[in-house]
Amino acid sequence: DDKLEYIKSKIGTFPDFPKKGIVFRDIFSALRDPTACKYLKEVLVQLVKEKCPNAEIIVGLESRGFLFNFMVATELGIGCAPVRKKGKLPGDLISVEYVLEYGKDIFEMQANAIKPGQKVIIVDDLLATGGSLKAAIELVRKAGGNVIGSFVVLELEDLHGRDKLDCDVYSLIKY
Ligand code: IMP
Repeated sequence: DDKLEYIKSKIGTFPDFPKKGIVFRDIFSALRDPTACKYLKEVLVQLVKEKCPNAEIIVGLESRGFLFNFMVATELGIGCAPVRKKGKLPGDLISVEYVLEYGKDIFEMQANAIKPGQKVIIVDDLLATGGSLKAAIELVRKAGGNVIGSFVVLELEDLHGRDKLDCDVYSLIKY
């Protein structure tokens, strides 16, 4: 697809960031380009409408997932909610602990963000090992949501993150 090729050509690549041996894919490089912005919005919204037209709420992962959840929500006519790192959200919360390369972290959602049985989709900028998305799926289920699909803009296929995830995962651009 020409639009996806165009977007991919604008994604930044930074070897050895944030540490040696990691090749960091930078979506912000593409978002500086107005045509890439327009195309990315079009292809992502189209993919969500095609795969999960009955979604009732979209959950975005801190922080680049927030670029996409509000945008997709307004296009689909649904609401959106955040998954954030511990300590950022007010009110009654539900949380899940997940394992990082070194140590652990905690994701939180507001307890009333999702209604029981609601059809939920999740969005993030990038799928690497899948640890973040796996934790987010667990959290949404803990909140009573029915995860009907997950969407990422970029997927690092070598890391096989999707094998960790027991829901349908859709990505636009693969490395
Ligand atoms: P995972 O949990 O290993 O799948 O890592 C995915 C999370 O880390 C996402 O929230 C990404 O934003 C972030 N991430 C991991 N690698 C990259 C990268 O190369 N570029 C941008 N974000 C990354």
